Amino acid sequence: MSARQTIRRAAAAMRDGSLTSVELTRAALKAASMTESQVHAYLTLDTEGALQAAEMADSELGAGDDRGPLHGIPIALKDNMVTKGIETTCSSRILSGYVPPYSATVVERLEEGGAVITGKTNLDEFAMGSSTEHSAFGPTRNPWDTDRVPGGSSGGSAVTVAVGSALGALGSDTGGSVRQPASLTGVVGMKPTYGLVSRYGLIPFASSLDQIGPFTRTVADAVDVLSVIAGHDPHDATSIPGSVPNLDAGLGRGLDGVKVGVVSEMQRDETEPAVRGAVANIIEQMEANGAKVQEVSLPSFEYALSAYYLIAPAEASANLARFDGVRYGNRVDGANVADMMSKTRADGFGAEVIRRILLGTYALSAGHFDAFYGQALKVRSLVRRDLDAAYEDVDVLVGPTSPTTAFELGAKTADPLTMYLTDVFTIPANLSGHPAISVPVGLDEAGLPIGFQVMAPALGEPTLFQVAEAVESIAAFDQEPELAGSLA
Ligand code: GLN
Repeated sequence: MSARQTIRRAAAAMRDGSLTSVELTRAALKAASMTESQVHAYLTLDTEGALQAAEMADSELGAGDDRGPLHGIPIALKDNMVTKGIETTCSSRILSGYVPPYSATVVERLEEGGAVITGKTNLDEFAMGSSTEHSAFGPTRNPWDTDRVPGGSSGGSAVTVAVGSALGALGSDTGGSVRQPASLTGVVGMKPTYGLVSRYGLIPFASSLDQIGPFTRTVADAVDVLSVIAGHDPHDATSIPGSVPNLDAGLGRGLDGVKVGVVSEMQRDETEPAVRGAVANIIEQMEANGAKVQEVSLPSFEYALSAYYLIAPAEASANLARFDGVRYGNRVDGANVADMMSKTRADGFGAEVIRRILLGTYALSAGHFDAFYGQALKVRSLVRRDLDAAYEDVDVLVGPTSPTTAFELGAKTADPLTMYLTDVFTIPANLSGHPAISVPVGLDEAGLPIGFQVMAPALGEPTLFQVAEAVESIAAFDQEPELAGSLA
């Protein structure tokens, strides 16, 4: 029995009596024990809690108390979502040992839905990064080639799904941190419309951009996870009031008559030829399957990355002010309060986090505010305007998720700009708040996964999933990483 299977299949098997949640959870935990020394996806594995939750799920399901699609399903959580009683670190020394007194809304919803929480996964410190190398607790490795990164910042969550040490996982996507690692590890990763999923209990990086989203093996599984975690939450002032769109309304409807825009600015020469080829091939087949394809130009995309790297650090510099050695986490003593705070922060934060705080503080400071932050906000409006105008003509926009496949550990850590450039295609949807998804469509010549991105207008999730599912069935991607010692 392997936990490398879809949520839908496992859920059906649990209901026809051919599988128990305890068996499935044991399989996921066994996959973790066989792969963790090679990939380091988990920071905390809650073996005991998971098995208890699985036993509970089995007895509830046995008694006819069905809590929905995730009942009894092992799910992993990025370690920037607070979990009552379970250490939550954000992969930062400043929070190591921190045990939150409450759980994030997404965690409560998963628990109410009967999900089995397997543990907390590795990330770039405070979700700042694209490779999971900026973790205070060591990098996560890509199961397709352990000399390579899994992408980031939610690299740990992506890898749990890729190796089957969870059937689904949650990540957070501020500039691409769900979609890019999904692309680099061959799984599905989705960022919902801003405000569709509560951020309450997600330790903030850049609050106007942060959004929690699912990693799964299939598009239909992503629908199931999102259906459990989405919905209004009075604890999050930016959460969208009213009911959630009918997320599976488009599943099975194919591409007939769907208007697809191919973003010219996402067909850049810098993109690896294998990625460009795979994306072009899928688009051709979408057309053959009934989609109406047209080229769309979004000129403001060229400036989106620069705007993001002002807005996100600016918000981060304000959000991370709370880590002062007084309210949360660890403290280094000093001669006086100011000295204590400065020593605590110098010791507790890693280099990338400090870089972002400095950048953000500078961008917000008097005399620079209009030139940097103010300009970036204007670009953000332009991106949103360009996208909204495009969606008057097309239902979805498509392109690559990432310009490259997985790169080697250490390849980009010395030059932050090259690391930032890996987000060039994912950032526009964060700036606009629109939903977007990455679907695995093939492997490059080195055997590394390639992701295809679909974007849709605000609350366009039903169409997004419809098109993503069609892409998934066109690509028919069914390869698995062959990690030494892992379960087939
Ligand atoms: N890689 C981007 C950054 O470093 C995005 C991170 C994220 O989405 N959390 O800011």
